[in-house]
Amino acid sequence: MDKSTQNDGLTMLAVLAHPDDETFGMGGTLALYAQRGVSVHLICATRGEVGEVAPHFLEGYQSIGELREDELRCAAGKLGLTGVHFLDYRDSGMPGSPDNQHPKALAAAPIDEVAAKVTAYIRELRPQVVLTFDPIGGYRHPDHIAIHEATVRAFHAAGDPEQFPEEGAPYQPDKLYYHTFPRGWLTWAVRLMPLFGKDPRHFGQNGDIDLLELVGENFPVHARINYGQVVKVKEEATACHASQGGMASSSGLMRWAFRLASGKDSFTRAYPEPKGGGNERDLFSGIKVME
Ligand SMILES: [Zn+2]
Repeated sequence: MDKSTQNDGLTMLAVLAHPDDETFGMGGTLALYAQRGVSVHLICATRGEVGEVAPHFLEGYQSIGELREDELRCAAGKLGLTGVHFLDYRDSGMPGSPDNQHPKALAAAPIDEVAAKVTAYIRELRPQVVLTFDPIGGYRHPDHIAIHEATVRAFHAAGDPEQFPEEGAPYQPDKLYYHTFPRGWLTWAVRLMPLFGKDPRHFGQNGDIDLLELVGENFPVHARINYGQVVKVKEEATACHASQGGMASSSGLMRWAFRLASGKDSFTRAYPEPKGGGNERDLFSGIKVME
């Protein structure tokens, strides 16, 4: 699979929660398939309205949500995405924060309501491959978990005419994958971090990610996507998310360590359930395009 014409008719849909999820998580994979001529669409459930942003980033913007939508559109352009679709929920913030209870918060929305919206996009865009977070949303962000659950629900409902009949003609995608961080890599990172003066129990821009706890949760890896040829594209997209720190927040050594570990994305194949270990190098393997 190399040149664009070969991949006419192939569509990939990533269903995520916030502007920057598409880049910091599976950005390399999205860029790689876009470069191969696949139509790569993104559903972003919120505009990342909650969280700290240094005031100078907000110049010329009415709100954090507006700024972060702009950053997302910049990143989407770099990654080569075909379309970005918002579900217009509100960022729920980290677990236990008052933003969890906001009436428009994604994490407070009924799963069927969110799943109906995702189903409508699946039926309209007709992707063969659907991607989302793993069952703990990567690092237990409530919005990541909510959109994971809604996407799983939508994936299985989209082909069933009895479910969400208002949301378009039934269409069943072929494959569902969860992006996951390989624990081998995570274990290694957790050991290394103290050497760089980083606390693995308080990781991330807001210090609210406990990497030690995440090491204990393991999801099988069925597909590894080598995106080495588009690492630069992912870095350009990362730079679009300047208000979220991008690479600028890590020290030189950390940046070097992360670059060593980067270049590959890992996925759990949720559907069809893999028989045996699963060792895919292409998320579209086994898929035939119907003309
Ligand atoms: Zn997120």
